[in-house]
Amino acid sequence: MLGRMKVAAAERWRGSRCGSLALPLALACLLLACLVPAQAQEARKAQKDPYAAPRRALVAELRAQADDGVASIGNDVLRVLTQVPRHEFVPAAQRRHAYQNRPLAIGYGQTISQPYIVALMTALAKPDADDVVLEVGTGSGYQAAVLSPLVAKVYSIEIIAPLGEQARSRLQALGYDNVHTRIADGYYGWKEHAPFDAIVVTAAAQSVPPPLVAQLKPGGRMVIPVGGSFFTQVLMLVEKDAKGRVRTRQILPVRFVPLTRGSGG
Ligand code: SAH
Repeated sequence: MLGRMKVAAAERWRGSRCGSLALPLALACLLLACLVPAQAQEARKAQKDPYAAPRRALVAELRAQADDGVASIGNDVLRVLTQVPRHEFVPAAQRRHAYQNRPLAIGYGQTISQPYIVALMTALAKPDADDVVLEVGTGSGYQAAVLSPLVAKVYSIEIIAPLGEQARSRLQALGYDNVHTRIADGYYGWKEHAPFDAIVVTAAAQSVPPPLVAQLKPGGRMVIPVGGSFFTQVLMLVEKDAKGRVRTRQILPVRFVPLTRGSGG
């Protein structure tokens, strides 16, 4: 009797010891089951897009700058910057620099703007889902790609034909279907699709081009660097109110390539 009780106690003890191991074991298995796929998923993502992590780091840097008083850059704009593959918009030799917060050469003496400036100009244009936006200075197509998911349509004009053509096929290949491009002098805007809710000019003008002001909708915004020399440019926000009155504000000093003049719109 005593012996049977002892065995039973021993079994209970063994059972409970097994029970005390089973729970942590099960938890460990569960944790592993969760961690391994997550790690594998991260590894697969990194393999698929090795630039995703540097892109996130860049956006974290921009987020820290986003409320510095110049103009606030909202989450919607920052989210788009985590999605648009800037490395696809620069020449192969520049790819390793694609997620540094600085402008890069894109050929023909032109540059892709600094990501902070792209984010700031996008925020100042106050993009809305129904908006039709004009960009002057397609360049690489990056600014147009950033605007693309935030608005209904983007019309973008480039004066250097090979750059404009390259940007067009790049934007198409990457699926930015609501971006329409054209090779022309953007000083004259794009009459057929005017008026625009917003206009973003990414080359520095001597003064605000009157045809662009005319193609801005009442209630519309234009963001444009203005200034003759490379050292005295200012980013301006031009707002047209509901009655068509125009108000201009200086935002911050900038350095853009010049808005050159072609043969006409
Ligand atoms: N938005 C571009 C920045 C390009 S730099 C990007 O995201 O990459 C400015 C561009 O404006 C250059 O490609 C330059 O050729 C173009 N440009 C200069 N003058 C122009 C004009 N009058 N009309 C259209 N594009 C012009």
